[in-house]
Amino acid sequence: MTLSLAASHAKGKFGLDKIMAASAAANKAIAQYGRENIINATIGAILDDNENLVCLPTAEKVFRTLPITEVINYAPISGLPEYLEAAIDVTFAANRPDAYIKAIATSGGSGCIHHVVHNYSEIGDTVLTSDWHWGPYSVFCKDAMRKLETYELFDAEQKFNIRSFAEKVQALLAKQNSLIIILNTPAHNPTGYSLSDSEWDQVLDCLKECAKDTAKRIVLVVDIAYLDFAGEKNEARAFMKKLGGLPPNLLTILAFSMSKGYTMYGQRTGAMIGVTSSQEVAKEFEDINGYASRATWSSINRGCQRLLVTIHKDKELEAQLEQERNFYYRLIQERAAIFTREAKEVNLNMLPYIAGFFLTIPAKNPDAVCDKLHEDKVFAVPLGKGVRIAVCAVPSKKITGLAAKVAKAMAAV
Ligand code: PLP
Repeated sequence: MTLSLAASHAKGKFGLDKIMAASAAANKAIAQYGRENIINATIGAILDDNENLVCLPTAEKVFRTLPITEVINYAPISGLPEYLEAAIDVTFAANRPDAYIKAIATSGGSGCIHHVVHNYSEIGDTVLTSDWHWGPYSVFCKDAMRKLETYELFDAEQKFNIRSFAEKVQALLAKQNSLIIILNTPAHNPTGYSLSDSEWDQVLDCLKECAKDTAKRIVLVVDIAYLDFAGEKNEARAFMKKLGGLPPNLLTILAFSMSKGYTMYGQRTGAMIGVTSSQEVAKEFEDINGYASRATWSSINRGCQRLLVTIHKDKELEAQLEQERNFYYRLIQERAAIFTREAKEVNLNMLPYIAGFFLTIPAKNPDAVCDKLHEDKVFAVPLGKGVRIAVCAVPSKKITGLAAKVAKAMAAV
Protein backbone atom coordinates (compact mmCIF):
# COMPACT_ATOMS: atom_id res chain seq x y z
CA MET A 1 0.00 0.00 0.00
CA THR A 2 1.35 3.46 -0.79
CA LEU A 3 1.71 5.89 2.05
CA SER A 4 -0.97 8.57 2.01
CA LEU A 5 -1.32 11.48 4.37
CA ALA A 6 -4.31 12.98 2.57
CA ALA A 7 -7.64 13.46 4.30
CA SER A 8 -10.32 10.98 3.23
CA HIS A 9 -12.04 13.49 0.90
CA ALA A 10 -8.75 14.31 -0.85
CA LYS A 11 -7.35 10.81 -1.26
CA GLY A 12 -6.78 9.60 -4.80
CA LYS A 13 -7.36 12.96 -6.49
CA PHE A 14 -4.84 13.98 -9.14
CA GLY A 15 -4.51 16.71 -11.70
CA LEU A 16 -3.80 15.38 -15.17
CA ASP A 17 -6.90 15.52 -17.36
CA LYS A 18 -7.40 14.36 -20.93
CA ILE A 19 -6.81 17.82 -22.37
CA MET A 20 -3.44 18.13 -20.65
CA ALA A 21 -2.49 14.57 -21.63
CA ALA A 22 -3.36 15.20 -25.30
CA SER A 23 -1.48 18.48 -25.26
CA ALA A 24 1.60 16.80 -23.71
CA ALA A 25 1.54 14.15 -26.48
CA ALA A 26 1.35 16.90 -29.12
CA ASN A 27 4.28 18.77 -27.60
CA LYS A 28 6.38 15.60 -27.55
CA ALA A 29 5.66 15.06 -31.25
CA ILE A 30 6.48 18.71 -32.02
CA ALA A 31 9.88 18.30 -30.30
CA GLN A 32 10.51 15.14 -32.36
CA TYR A 33 9.18 16.07 -35.84
CA GLY A 34 9.04 19.89 -35.87
CA ARG A 35 5.99 22.10 -35.47
CA GLU A 36 5.33 22.37 -39.21
CA ASN A 37 4.73 18.63 -39.41
CA ILE A 38 2.25 18.37 -36.56
CA ILE A 39 -1.41 19.36 -36.35
CA ASN A 40 -1.99 20.33 -32.77
CA ALA A 41 -5.75 20.68 -32.28
CA THR A 42 -5.60 20.41 -28.49
CA ILE A 43 -4.99 24.04 -27.48
CA GLY A 44 -7.82 26.15 -26.05
CA ALA A 45 -6.34 29.51 -27.05
CA ILE A 46 -6.20 31.50 -30.28
CA LEU A 47 -3.11 30.85 -32.40
CA ASP A 48 -2.59 32.89 -35.55
CA ASP A 49 -1.84 31.37 -38.95
CA ASN A 50 1.85 31.14 -37.95
CA GLU A 51 0.79 29.23 -34.84
CA ASN A 52 1.82 31.98 -32.45
CA LEU A 53 -0.31 32.72 -29.39
CA VAL A 54 -2.39 35.82 -30.09
CA CYS A 55 -2.58 38.76 -27.71
CA LEU A 56 -5.05 41.39 -28.92
CA PRO A 57 -2.76 44.38 -29.70
CA THR A 58 -4.89 46.91 -27.79
CA ALA A 59 -4.95 44.67 -24.72
CA GLU A 60 -1.15 44.35 -24.92
CA LYS A 61 -0.62 48.10 -25.36
CA VAL A 62 -2.83 49.00 -22.40
CA PHE A 63 -1.36 46.26 -20.22
CA ARG A 64 2.22 47.38 -20.90
CA THR A 65 1.45 51.02 -20.08
CA LEU A 66 -0.32 50.42 -16.77
CA PRO A 67 1.40 52.22 -13.86
CA ILE A 68 3.44 49.65 -11.94
CA THR A 69 1.49 50.36 -8.75
CA GLU A 70 -1.69 49.28 -10.55
CA VAL A 71 0.01 46.00 -11.43
CA ILE A 72 1.50 45.15 -8.05
CA ASN A 73 -0.99 46.48 -5.56
CA TYR A 74 -3.78 44.49 -3.94
CA ALA A 75 -7.29 44.99 -5.18
CA PRO A 76 -10.34 45.00 -2.89
CA ILE A 77 -11.43 41.40 -2.16
CA SER A 78 -14.66 41.73 -4.16
CA GLY A 79 -12.96 43.64 -6.99
CA LEU A 80 -12.35 47.29 -7.91
CA PRO A 81 -15.81 48.92 -8.00
CA GLU A 82 -15.10 50.45 -11.43
CA TYR A 83 -14.00 47.02 -12.72
CA LEU A 84 -17.25 45.46 -11.57
CA GLU A 85 -19.19 48.21 -13.36
CA ALA A 86 -17.16 47.70 -16.52
CA ALA A 87 -17.59 43.90 -16.36
CA ILE A 88 -21.37 44.34 -16.08
CA ASP A 89 -21.39 46.87 -18.95
CA VAL A 90 -19.37 44.77 -21.38
CA THR A 91 -21.28 41.63 -20.49
CA PHE A 92 -24.72 43.03 -21.27
CA ALA A 93 -23.91 45.78 -23.81
CA ALA A 94 -27.37 46.92 -24.96
CA ASN A 95 -29.16 43.94 -23.38
CA ARG A 96 -29.22 44.74 -19.69
CA PRO A 97 -32.16 42.98 -18.06
CA ASP A 98 -34.54 44.72 -15.73
CA ALA A 99 -33.24 43.27 -12.45
CA TYR A 100 -30.86 43.80 -9.53
CA ILE A 101 -27.41 43.18 -10.96
CA LYS A 102 -24.33 42.68 -8.79
CA ALA A 103 -20.82 41.50 -9.57
CA ILE A 104 -17.95 39.98 -7.61
CA ALA A 105 -14.46 39.63 -9.11
CA THR A 106 -13.38 36.01 -9.55
CA SER A 107 -10.36 34.13 -10.73
CA GLY A 108 -11.63 33.78 -14.31
CA GLY A 109 -14.87 32.04 -15.16
CA SER A 110 -13.49 29.06 -13.21
CA GLY A 111 -13.62 31.09 -10.01
CA CYS A 112 -17.28 31.87 -10.63
CA ILE A 113 -18.16 28.21 -11.03
CA HIS A 114 -16.16 27.34 -7.91
CA HIS A 115 -18.07 29.89 -5.82
CA VAL A 116 -21.48 28.93 -7.20
CA VAL A 117 -20.97 25.26 -6.37
CA HIS A 118 -19.60 26.14 -2.93
CA ASN A 119 -22.29 28.64 -2.00
CA TYR A 120 -25.49 27.53 -3.73
CA SER A 121 -25.57 23.73 -3.37
CA GLU A 122 -25.55 21.51 -0.32
CA ILE A 123 -22.81 18.93 0.22
CA GLY A 124 -23.99 15.75 -1.52
CA ASP A 125 -26.29 17.65 -3.93
CA THR A 126 -26.25 17.03 -7.65
CA VAL A 127 -25.43 19.80 -10.11
CA LEU A 128 -26.84 19.62 -13.65
CA THR A 129 -25.21 20.31 -17.00
CA SER A 130 -25.38 18.85 -20.52
CA ASP A 131 -23.79 15.54 -21.59
CA TRP A 132 -21.38 17.46 -23.83
CA HIS A 133 -19.58 19.77 -21.42
CA TRP A 134 -16.27 21.29 -20.38
CA GLY A 135 -14.62 18.55 -18.28
CA PRO A 136 -13.62 20.67 -15.26
CA TYR A 137 -17.30 21.16 -14.29
CA SER A 138 -17.19 17.70 -12.76
CA VAL A 139 -13.92 18.53 -10.98
CA PHE A 140 -15.48 21.60 -9.32
CA CYS A 141 -18.38 19.42 -8.16
CA LYS A 142 -16.40 16.41 -6.99
CA ASP A 143 -13.81 18.49 -5.19
CA ALA A 144 -16.62 20.17 -3.24
CA MET A 145 -18.28 16.79 -2.51
CA ARG A 146 -21.13 17.39 -4.94
CA LYS A 147 -22.11 15.25 -7.92
CA LEU A 148 -22.63 16.20 -11.55
CA GLU A 149 -25.44 14.77 -13.66
CA THR A 150 -26.20 15.47 -17.28
CA TYR A 151 -29.12 15.85 -19.68
CA GLU A 152 -28.80 15.26 -23.41
CA LEU A 153 -27.81 18.49 -25.12
CA PHE A 154 -29.18 17.54 -28.54
CA ASP A 155 -32.39 15.95 -29.74
CA ALA A 156 -32.70 13.89 -32.93
CA GLU A 157 -32.75 17.07 -35.03
CA GLN A 158 -29.55 18.27 -33.36
CA LYS A 159 -31.40 21.08 -31.63
CA PHE A 160 -31.44 21.83 -27.90
CA ASN A 161 -33.11 18.89 -26.17
CA ILE A 162 -35.62 20.71 -24.00
CA ARG A 163 -37.39 17.48 -23.11
CA SER A 164 -34.26 15.90 -21.64
CA PHE A 165 -33.42 19.19 -19.90
CA ALA A 166 -36.87 19.50 -18.29
CA GLU A 167 -36.97 15.85 -17.22
CA LYS A 168 -33.64 16.10 -15.42
CA VAL A 169 -34.47 19.43 -13.80
CA GLN A 170 -37.75 18.06 -12.48
CA ALA A 171 -36.22 14.78 -11.29
CA LEU A 172 -33.46 16.54 -9.38
CA LEU A 173 -35.83 19.06 -7.83
CA ALA A 174 -37.96 16.17 -6.61
CA LYS A 175 -34.91 14.96 -4.64
CA GLN A 176 -33.26 18.18 -3.46
CA ASN A 177 -34.29 21.73 -2.66
CA SER A 178 -31.37 23.52 -4.29
CA LEU A 179 -30.40 23.01 -7.89
CA ILE A 180 -27.53 24.54 -9.85
CA ILE A 181 -27.77 24.24 -13.62
CA ILE A 182 -24.74 25.14 -15.74
CA LEU A 183 -25.56 26.22 -19.28
CA ASN A 184 -22.56 27.02 -21.48
CA THR A 185 -23.85 29.23 -24.27
CA PRO A 186 -23.24 30.92 -26.67
CA ALA A 187 -20.40 29.17 -28.53
CA HIS A 188 -20.42 26.11 -26.31
CA ASN A 189 -17.26 24.20 -25.48
CA PRO A 190 -16.82 21.57 -26.96
CA THR A 191 -19.48 21.67 -29.71
CA GLY A 192 -19.76 25.32 -30.79
CA TYR A 193 -23.53 25.33 -30.25
CA SER A 194 -25.50 28.42 -29.18
CA LEU A 195 -29.06 28.30 -27.86
CA SER A 196 -31.54 30.09 -30.11
CA ASP A 197 -33.94 32.73 -28.85
CA SER A 198 -36.83 30.27 -28.72
CA GLU A 199 -34.71 27.62 -26.99
CA TRP A 200 -33.90 30.21 -24.33
CA ASP A 201 -37.65 30.84 -23.90
CA GLN A 202 -38.23 27.12 -23.40
CA VAL A 203 -35.46 26.88 -20.79
CA LEU A 204 -36.77 29.86 -18.84
CA ASP A 205 -40.41 28.70 -19.07
CA CYS A 206 -39.38 25.35 -17.62
CA LEU A 207 -37.44 26.95 -14.76
CA LYS A 208 -40.21 29.47 -14.02
CA GLU A 209 -42.67 26.61 -13.75
CA CYS A 210 -40.35 24.75 -11.32
CA ALA A 211 -39.83 27.91 -9.28
CA LYS A 212 -43.57 28.04 -8.49
CA ASP A 213 -42.66 25.70 -5.65
CA THR A 214 -41.18 28.37 -3.42
CA ALA A 215 -39.36 25.80 -1.28
CA LYS A 216 -37.02 25.29 -4.24
CA ARG A 217 -33.91 27.39 -4.88
CA ILE A 218 -32.74 27.37 -8.47
CA VAL A 219 -29.48 28.86 -9.72
CA LEU A 220 -28.90 29.05 -13.44
CA VAL A 221 -25.23 29.61 -14.28
CA VAL A 222 -24.68 30.90 -17.80
CA ASP A 223 -21.08 30.19 -18.71
CA ILE A 224 -20.30 32.93 -21.24
CA ALA A 225 -16.56 32.19 -21.59
CA TYR A 226 -16.80 32.40 -25.41
CA LEU A 227 -19.40 35.20 -25.65
CA ASP A 228 -17.07 37.54 -27.55
CA PHE A 229 -16.49 34.96 -30.27
CA ALA A 230 -20.15 34.10 -30.75
CA GLY A 231 -21.18 36.54 -33.47
CA GLU A 232 -22.50 40.10 -33.66
CA LYS A 233 -22.21 41.72 -30.22
CA ASN A 234 -25.85 42.44 -29.42
CA GLU A 235 -27.26 39.44 -31.25
CA ALA A 236 -25.08 37.10 -29.19
CA ARG A 237 -26.31 38.87 -26.03
CA ALA A 238 -29.99 39.13 -26.95
CA PHE A 239 -30.96 36.35 -24.52
CA MET A 240 -29.74 38.43 -21.58
CA LYS A 241 -32.79 40.71 -21.68
CA LYS A 242 -34.91 37.68 -20.83
CA LEU A 243 -33.18 37.33 -17.45
CA GLY A 244 -35.22 40.19 -15.97
CA GLY A 245 -38.49 39.65 -14.05
CA LEU A 246 -37.75 36.06 -13.05
CA PRO A 247 -39.12 34.60 -9.80
CA PRO A 248 -37.11 35.55 -6.68
CA ASN A 249 -36.13 31.90 -6.02
CA LEU A 250 -34.53 31.70 -9.48
CA LEU A 251 -31.12 33.40 -9.55
CA THR A 252 -29.09 33.72 -12.74
CA ILE A 253 -25.31 34.01 -12.51
CA LEU A 254 -23.25 34.90 -15.56
CA ALA A 255 -19.64 33.65 -15.55
CA PHE A 256 -17.72 36.56 -17.10
CA SER A 257 -14.13 35.86 -18.12
CA MET A 258 -11.33 37.98 -19.58
CA SER A 259 -9.43 34.86 -20.65
CA LYS A 260 -10.70 34.62 -24.22
CA GLY A 261 -12.41 37.95 -24.89
CA TYR A 262 -9.31 39.93 -23.88
CA THR A 263 -6.73 37.13 -24.49
CA MET A 264 -5.71 37.40 -20.82
CA TYR A 265 -5.99 33.65 -20.07
CA GLY A 266 -3.20 33.43 -17.49
CA GLN A 267 -4.04 36.71 -15.77
CA ARG A 268 -6.96 34.90 -14.09
CA THR A 269 -9.53 37.68 -14.18
CA GLY A 270 -13.28 37.31 -14.37
CA ALA A 271 -16.43 38.00 -12.44
CA MET A 272 -19.62 36.38 -11.31
CA ILE A 273 -22.58 38.55 -12.24
CA GLY A 274 -25.77 37.88 -10.33
CA VAL A 275 -29.12 38.82 -11.88
CA THR A 276 -32.14 38.66 -9.60
CA SER A 277 -35.52 40.24 -9.02
CA SER A 278 -34.91 40.23 -5.27
CA GLN A 279 -32.92 42.93 -3.51
CA GLU A 280 -32.24 40.52 -0.64
CA VAL A 281 -30.90 37.83 -2.92
CA ALA A 282 -28.67 40.46 -4.56
CA LYS A 283 -27.29 41.59 -1.20
CA GLU A 284 -26.71 38.00 -0.10
CA PHE A 285 -24.97 37.30 -3.44
CA GLU A 286 -22.43 40.06 -2.74
CA ASP A 287 -21.94 39.03 0.88
CA ILE A 288 -21.46 35.29 0.55
CA ASN A 289 -19.37 35.38 -2.60
CA GLY A 290 -17.06 38.11 -1.32
CA TYR A 291 -16.62 35.99 1.80
CA ALA A 292 -15.79 32.91 -0.27
CA SER A 293 -13.19 34.93 -2.20
CA ARG A 294 -11.47 35.92 1.05
CA ALA A 295 -11.43 32.25 2.00
CA THR A 296 -10.24 30.99 -1.41
CA TRP A 297 -7.82 33.40 -3.11
CA SER A 298 -8.17 36.72 -1.30
CA SER A 299 -8.28 39.34 -4.07
CA ILE A 300 -7.59 38.73 -7.76
CA ASN A 301 -5.23 40.38 -10.26
CA ARG A 302 -5.51 44.17 -10.00
CA GLY A 303 -3.67 44.99 -13.25
CA CYS A 304 -6.08 43.08 -15.43
CA GLN A 305 -9.05 44.71 -13.70
CA ARG A 306 -7.50 48.10 -14.44
CA LEU A 307 -6.96 47.01 -18.04
CA LEU A 308 -10.67 46.41 -18.52
CA VAL A 309 -11.56 49.74 -16.89
CA THR A 310 -9.04 51.62 -19.07
CA ILE A 311 -10.29 50.07 -22.29
CA HIS A 312 -13.96 50.36 -21.42
CA LYS A 313 -13.91 54.04 -20.49
CA ASP A 314 -12.15 55.01 -23.74
CA LYS A 315 -14.61 54.39 -26.57
CA GLU A 316 -11.89 54.60 -29.23
CA LEU A 317 -9.75 51.99 -27.52
CA GLU A 318 -12.76 49.78 -27.01
CA ALA A 319 -13.78 50.02 -30.66
CA GLN A 320 -10.22 49.19 -31.68
CA LEU A 321 -10.14 46.12 -29.42
CA GLU A 322 -13.48 44.95 -30.78
CA GLN A 323 -12.19 45.30 -34.31
CA GLU A 324 -9.10 43.22 -33.49
CA ARG A 325 -11.22 40.59 -31.79
CA ASN A 326 -13.59 40.43 -34.76
CA PHE A 327 -10.66 39.71 -37.02
CA TYR A 328 -9.93 36.57 -34.97
CA TYR A 329 -13.62 35.69 -34.71
CA ARG A 330 -13.74 35.66 -38.51
CA LEU A 331 -10.50 33.69 -38.74
CA ILE A 332 -11.89 30.98 -36.45
CA GLN A 333 -15.18 30.96 -38.39
CA GLU A 334 -13.23 30.49 -41.61
CA ARG A 335 -11.29 27.54 -40.19
CA ALA A 336 -14.48 25.93 -38.90
CA ALA A 337 -16.15 26.49 -42.28
CA ILE A 338 -13.36 24.62 -44.07
CA PHE A 339 -13.67 21.71 -41.66
CA THR A 340 -17.48 21.67 -41.89
CA ARG A 341 -17.45 21.75 -45.69
CA GLU A 342 -14.89 18.96 -45.95
CA ALA A 343 -16.67 16.90 -43.26
CA LYS A 344 -19.78 16.93 -45.47
CA GLU A 345 -17.71 15.83 -48.46
CA VAL A 346 -16.36 12.79 -46.59
CA ASN A 347 -19.63 12.05 -44.73
CA LEU A 348 -18.18 12.80 -41.34
CA ASN A 349 -20.91 13.50 -38.81
CA MET A 350 -20.22 16.62 -36.72
CA LEU A 351 -22.17 18.15 -33.87
CA PRO A 352 -23.86 21.45 -34.86
CA TYR A 353 -21.18 24.16 -34.81
CA ILE A 354 -22.30 27.77 -34.74
CA ALA A 355 -19.30 29.57 -33.25
CA GLY A 356 -16.50 29.32 -30.76
CA PHE A 357 -13.10 27.78 -30.22
CA PHE A 358 -13.99 24.10 -30.71
CA LEU A 359 -15.95 21.68 -32.81
CA THR A 360 -16.74 18.05 -32.04
CA ILE A 361 -17.09 14.82 -33.94
CA PRO A 362 -19.12 12.18 -32.10
CA ALA A 363 -17.28 8.83 -31.91
CA LYS A 364 -17.82 5.45 -30.28
CA ASN A 365 -14.23 5.06 -29.23
CA PRO A 366 -12.71 8.54 -28.97
CA ASP A 367 -9.44 7.42 -27.34
CA ALA A 368 -8.76 4.93 -30.12
CA VAL A 369 -9.63 7.52 -32.80
CA CYS A 370 -7.23 10.03 -31.24
CA ASP A 371 -4.48 7.41 -30.96
CA LYS A 372 -5.02 6.48 -34.61
CA LEU A 373 -4.83 10.16 -35.59
CA HIS A 374 -1.34 10.28 -34.08
CA GLU A 375 -0.18 8.16 -37.05
CA ASP A 376 -1.11 11.12 -39.26
CA LYS A 377 0.57 13.45 -36.75
CA VAL A 378 -2.78 14.89 -35.72
CA PHE A 379 -3.43 15.57 -32.03
CA ALA A 380 -6.97 16.15 -30.79
CA VAL A 381 -8.72 15.74 -27.44
CA PRO A 382 -10.70 12.55 -26.76
CA LEU A 383 -13.93 13.33 -24.87
CA GLY A 384 -16.36 10.80 -23.37
CA LYS A 385 -18.36 10.51 -26.59
CA GLY A 386 -16.38 12.31 -29.24
CA VAL A 387 -13.25 14.01 -30.50
CA ARG A 388 -12.69 17.74 -29.92
CA ILE A 389 -10.89 19.84 -32.53
CA ALA A 390 -9.62 23.27 -31.45
CA VAL A 391 -10.26 25.38 -34.55
CA CYS A 392 -9.00 28.36 -32.55
CA ALA A 393 -5.47 26.95 -32.70
CA VAL A 394 -5.04 25.30 -36.10
CA PRO A 395 -4.18 27.44 -39.16
CA SER A 396 -6.45 27.14 -42.19
CA LYS A 397 -3.78 25.43 -44.26
CA LYS A 398 -3.60 22.63 -41.71
CA ILE A 399 -7.40 22.42 -41.39
CA THR A 400 -7.59 21.60 -45.09
CA GLY A 401 -7.64 17.79 -45.30
CA LEU A 402 -8.18 17.34 -41.56
CA ALA A 403 -11.78 16.11 -41.80
CA ALA A 404 -10.64 13.36 -44.19
CA LYS A 405 -7.94 12.31 -41.71
CA VAL A 406 -10.51 12.11 -38.90
CA ALA A 407 -12.88 10.12 -41.13
CA LYS A 408 -10.04 7.72 -42.01
CA ALA A 409 -9.08 7.24 -38.35
CA MET A 410 -12.73 6.61 -37.43
CA ALA A 411 -13.09 4.00 -40.13
CA ALA A 412 -9.92 2.25 -38.97
CA VAL A 413 -10.83 1.74 -35.30
N1 PLP B 1 -15.94 27.73 -19.23
C1 PLP B 1 -15.55 27.08 -20.32
C2 PLP B 1 -16.56 26.38 -21.12
C3 PLP B 1 -14.20 27.06 -20.68
O1 PLP B 1 -13.83 26.41 -21.78
C4 PLP B 1 -13.27 27.75 -19.89
C5 PLP B 1 -11.84 27.73 -20.21
O2 PLP B 1 -11.35 26.99 -21.00
C6 PLP B 1 -13.75 28.41 -18.76
C7 PLP B 1 -15.09 28.38 -18.45
C8 PLP B 1 -12.90 29.11 -17.76
O3 PLP B 1 -11.95 29.90 -18.20
P1 PLP B 1 -11.24 30.93 -17.20
O4 PLP B 1 -11.28 30.36 -15.84
O5 PLP B 1 -9.86 31.03 -17.75
O6 PLP B 1 -12.02 32.18 -17.31
